[in-house]
Parts: sequence; structure tokens; C-alpha cells
Amino acid sequence: MEDSNTLRAAVEELVVANHILFDRGIVDGFGHVSVRHPDRPDRFLLSRNRAPGLVSAQDILVYGLDAEPVDRKDEPGYLERFIHSEIYRAHPEVMGVVHSHAVSMLPFTVVAGAPLCPICHMSGFLKRGTPIFEIRDHAGDASDLLIRSAALGCQLAAALEDHAVVLMRGHGMTVVGRTLRQSVFRSIYAEVNARIQATAASLGTATFLTEGEAAQADATNTGAINRAWDLWALAAEQNTARLRGA
Ligand code: MN
Repeated sequence: MEDSNTLRAAVEELVVANHILFDRGIVDGFGHVSVRHPDRPDRFLLSRNRAPGLVSAQDILVYGLDAEPVDRKDEPGYLERFIHSEIYRAHPEVMGVVHSHAVSMLPFTVVAGAPLCPICHMSGFLKRGTPIFEIRDHAGDASDLLIRSAALGCQLAAALEDHAVVLMRGHGMTVVGRTLRQSVFRSIYAEVNARIQATAASLGTATFLTEGEAAQADATNTGAINRAWDLWALAAEQNTARLRGA
């Protein structure tokens, strides 16, 4: 891997992001998180094929937008690394991508009449009617639902449009941010939003944030991400150190 201080810092932060997402229940044995390369917009950093809670700095590979590692070319990668490559290709402003199978999201991926909408001030990054990617429209009715090609990644990136979250029918979600930390923050609160929304729906008809409320809340929260990050990082390091034998 190339060597620079900014790259080393990006690798370290990506390791922490992996551990936070595992510790917060957004990923388990599956799911992954990436960050765009700090010096090369046509590259990104992503772990080799490894569970996020176990990822360490030596697992992080540099990928090109063809979803192939720049070095260590024989290292097996995640099957769905095309989610990351094609989103970075299609959305130049995106700096971080999280892919998750969080259980709370799944009902919102399969019920067309119940779109995920911003229901509280912590999830103002959601717009009304989060898009659902229907893989059958692109891969037919006998796929394994995985984004296992550049063509499918490209279709997913198109479905994302200018949203922070795209739901994937029967599969999970993919979340983007203008920083790695923002993508992690948003994936955590998208999951919180899903739980609140499902509970509220069982009580009656929910009131969602207006577009203006959502935008204001998103701006406020974006300025406060580091406060949560420092706590999540400390908790994650303590909780995952034992798993990694550290
Ligand atoms: Mn997946």
C-alpha cells in the first residue's frame, strides 16, 4: 500500500468505523464500510473479505473504481464491493459508504406502501420516501440478491439519486455521507428511525418531519457527529478488543 500520513489516518479511521458499526449492531458477520481515498478520488479503501468486528489496519486494501485491489491483487474481496466502486464513480461528493443488513430496515425494503421517512430530529438526513432498489428489475427473478457486478452496482448507484440511504429489497440498505463519519452516523440513525417508525405505525398514523425540519436537523447533527463518534469509538474499541485477542 502507498504510504502517506493522510492515508495512514484514513486507514485507522476506517478500522474504527468497522468496529463502531459492529458494536452498534449495524453490521455483523456481513456488511461493510469504505472511505474514498484521501489523495486519489478514483480509489477507495475497503477491508478484504473479513467480518467488520475483526478488521484491523492490515486488512484494509486500496481499490480502484473497477472494484479490484490496486496492490495485493490475489486478496479475496467482498462479493458486493461493486456497491462501493459504483457509488464512488457516480457520486463524486460521496466520501463514505456503509452497506448493512440491519434487521430493523428489512420491513421497509419489502412493503411498498410503508416508505421509510424522517420521523425524528436525529434522522433529518432521510428524505420522504427513501428509494427501494428492486434487484428483480435488473437481475431477473432468480438472483441471490447480491450486488455482485459493476452493472448491478451502477443500477444501485442510480437508484440512490441524491438520497443518503437506498433500501435494497429483501436484503438491507446502503448509506452514504460526505465524510466517513457521516456515513456511519447516518447508518446508525437510519436504523433508529426504522425502529421508531415501525413502533409508531403500530400505534397509529405518524407525523413525519417536514422537508424544512429535516434539513435543519440534518445541518445541526452534522456539526455534532464528532461528539458521538468519540464515544462510539471508545466503546467499540473496548468491546471488540477481546474478540480480536488484542
Ligand atoms: Mn449485502
